[in-house]
Amino acid sequence: MTVRDLTTLGSSSQQPTRYRNHGAYLFRWNEEGFLFDPGEGTQRQFIFANIAPTVISRIFVSHFHGDHCLGLGSILMRLNLDKVTHPIHCYYPASGKKYFDRLRYGTIYHEIINVIEHPVSEAGLVEDDGKFRIEAAFLEHGVDNIAWRITEADVRKFDRTALEAHGIRGPLVKELQQKGKIIVGGNEVLLDDVSWIRHGDSIAVVIDTRYCQNAIDIARDANILLCESTYLEEHKDLAEKHLHLTAKQAATIASKANAKQLILTHFSARYLNLREFEAEARAVFPNTLVAEDLKTFPFPKY
Ligand SMILES: [Zn+2]
Ligand SMILES: [Zn+2]
Repeated sequence: MTVRDLTTLGSSSQQPTRYRNHGAYLFRWNEEGFLFDPGEGTQRQFIFANIAPTVISRIFVSHFHGDHCLGLGSILMRLNLDKVTHPIHCYYPASGKKYFDRLRYGTIYHEIINVIEHPVSEAGLVEDDGKFRIEAAFLEHGVDNIAWRITEADVRKFDRTALEAHGIRGPLVKELQQKGKIIVGGNEVLLDDVSWIRHGDSIAVVIDTRYCQNAIDIARDANILLCESTYLEEHKDLAEKHLHLTAKQAATIASKANAKQLILTHFSARYLNLREFEAEARAVFPNTLVAEDLKTFPFPKY
């Protein structure tokens, strides 16, 4: 099993604090690194997290408010400096193309990395490369803003002991996989007799929105829902005014979506104690964690 975890590189909303950097979220998953919403200072947060930025293979920008993208240019330039040879896929709302270009080419540099852009203008399937399926849904935040869902492909796993018991090895394994059944020593062996399907993990990232059905739909049955909760319920009026969520609303989304685990982030600078977010959300959705800066969360096992 390869690494699969989420590291919070920052967890503040619009204004960073002494303890919380602008948001940025890195999912290390199999051989890839999915970086979401690199806010200002993301490059330095990688150093504090002791993670090499070269792990990044895909970058997602939910929307082009500064706290979600001001680190994009410096991260791309860093990957350029590190001379990464793998392509860097970038996914973002198509209407923000001019901001993407400005951030990408904001300063002088000699670009050698291979950046592949995926501007997204429609909800639904964005890409399925056989390894991961990427889906998008539009949120309600006053500007084009995308919630993402990433689902790992299912893989068939063979039971070595069962294979040996049936005397199946080498090319016979491949033949069984292709045909679904084979005859060995006069006995018919079905593929399901010696193997099983490992269902891929799924994550959803819902950042910056008011409460909406699309947030629930994109997070349906997700193993991890990373969700904004800028405010506590006591400031629900501010959440409504600025098109954000409270911790209770984020927990309601997780509950209605039947997500397995909720991780809260994007906290307003007005709050010092994040335990209050945890408590408010857990009253609705018990399996809630709080994304403090530089914390790493392994994918939950189910
Ligand atoms: Zn924000
Ligand atoms: Zn925003």
